[in-house]
Amino acid sequence: MRWKPVRRERVRDERGRPGGGGSLPRGAGCGGGGILAILAVVVTLLIGGNPLGGSGAFDLDYQDPNTGAVPEGSGEIVELPNETEKQFSDFVMKDLDDLWEPQFQDANRPFQIPTITYFTRATRTGCGGASSQTGPFYCPRDSGVYVDLAFLRQLQNRFGATGDFAHAYILAHEYGHHIQNSYDVGDGRSIMTTVQAEQRQDPGRANEWSIRLELQADCLAGIWARSAYEEGQLEQGDIEEGLNAAAAVGDDRIQRRTTGRVDPHSFNHGTSEQRQRWFARGFDSGEFSQCNTFSGSV
Ligand SMILES: [Zn+2]
Repeated sequence: MRWKPVRRERVRDERGRPGGGGSLPRGAGCGGGGILAILAVVVTLLIGGNPLGGSGAFDLDYQDPNTGAVPEGSGEIVELPNETEKQFSDFVMKDLDDLWEPQFQDANRPFQIPTITYFTRATRTGCGGASSQTGPFYCPRDSGVYVDLAFLRQLQNRFGATGDFAHAYILAHEYGHHIQNSYDVGDGRSIMTTVQAEQRQDPGRANEWSIRLELQADCLAGIWARSAYEEGQLEQGDIEEGLNAAAAVGDDRIQRRTTGRVDPHSFNHGTSEQRQRWFARGFDSGEFSQCNTFSGSV
C-alpha cells in the first residue's frame, strides 16, 4: 500500500510501558490461540458480558503520538517498538476517518472517530483488561480500537497472513465495528446494540447474530479497500493480501489449526469463504447498502 506518515487525532500510545495501562485481572490470560481469545472476547462483549472481569475503568494516559514521550514515572527512556507499524496504523486509521466521517456528516448523523490505543503486553479498556493474547479488538463502551502491534507479526507467523494490507484489513474490520456502534437504526439504537438485544433475547441464536455482525464488519472493510483503490493507494497484490487475511481468520481455518477439528456450531465470525466473500462484496460494490448481512443467508 502507498502511504506516508500522518498525524491522527485520538491516538493513545502506551508502547514500551511495562504492563501497559494496568495489570490484568486473574483469568485474563485467555488460554488457547490468540485469535480464538479475541473471538471469545469480542463475542462476549457483544452479548453484553465483561469477559475479562475488571472494573471497566478507563485509565489510560494520553501520550503525544508525535513526541513519543515516555509517560512520567516509567523510568528510563526506552525505544518504542514497532514504530513503522504504528505510523502505518495511524495512516490507515486516518484514511478510515476520511472515508466514514463525511458520510455521517452528509447524512446529518452524529459521529466521533474512534480512539486507537497501541499497547505492549497488557492494557485496561472500557471493557476490562486486554493482553497481547487478545489481539486487536474494538470496545464499544469506550469506542476504542486496541492493538498490540506485535500481533501483526503473529498474523504473519502464525496465521500466514502476510503483507501490509493484511494489517490494514484488520484495522478496517475493527473500524467497521465502530461504524456499527455509531450508526443509529432508530430509537437511538445502533446496529451493535440492536444485535446485542437480539442475542440477549434468544441466546440460542447468539452465534448466528455474531457471525452476521462480523461479516458486515468485513464488508465495511471492503468498502474502505475500494476507496483506497480509487484513491490510487493500492499496490499490486494488496487485495490478495486482504482476502488472504480474511480467510486466515475464518472460524473453520482457526479451529482446524488450533484444535485439529471443525465445529460449525461454535462459529462466531464466519468461515474463511464467508469472510472473503463479504470483504469482496464491499470492495466490488463500495456500497453500504450492499453490506446488509442481517437478512437472508450469509
Ligand atoms: Zn470483529
